[in-house]
Amino acid sequence: MIGKPTLISKRQGIIFIISAPSGAGKTTLITGLRSLYPRLKLSVSCTTRARRNGEVHGRDYYFITGRQFKAMKARGQFAEWAQVHDFFYGTPRRPLEQCVRSGRDILLDIDVQGAKKIKRAYRGAVSIFVLPPSLHELKRRLALRATEGKETIHRRLANARGEIREILAYDYYVVNREVKKAMGVLKSIVEAERARTSHVTEWRFDLLR
Ligand code: 5GP
Repeated sequence: MIGKPTLISKRQGIIFIISAPSGAGKTTLITGLRSLYPRLKLSVSCTTRARRNGEVHGRDYYFITGRQFKAMKARGQFAEWAQVHDFFYGTPRRPLEQCVRSGRDILLDIDVQGAKKIKRAYRGAVSIFVLPPSLHELKRRLALRATEGKETIHRRLANARGEIREILAYDYYVVNREVKKAMGVLKSIVEAERARTSHVTEWRFDLLR
């Protein structure tokens, strides 16, 4: 269907990066964003960690072996990769770049190291850091997760402290005290970024005549 002619004939897809210490409530916010923006694609990472209950290969992650990961890395098939909590994680390059070229926005749920690499490699990528209301609250949320042992909780908390210090490398932060409010801030970020002239690659100034 041919729509009304618009002044913007082409815009590149925006890479939205979202990072958070585990327990900050990032998954809930990502689910909320995807129902708000059904066209927003979620990048599916490769990982060497084992599949958790309920996770689906190809939807949550591509679960691959260390050997497969190494081979993909050597072939330059990752836009970025990092070691997180003893395992390797990588963002497949091809779907990411196809998305950007086709004008569709894509969301990357990656850690601080990955966020820095993507920001360096892709001009215009937008990074968002989700903060828990406090470290006390983060500890409480982690303890509520039945799946994590005491050791893991301790380690994740220590990691969280380190990660939060990296917040200055991000473009935006969202405090997840109340999901509804945090969603409001996220929505404003997405809308503002979509209105950025620098993402437009082709204007139709001939329509102004
Ligand atoms: P989990 O194993 O709990 O799913 O994820 C652990 C951490 O790895 C999270 O902080 C998540 O954002 C990060 N992560 C997931 N995929 C990637 C990726 O492709 N690259 C990087 N750098 N981090 C990732």
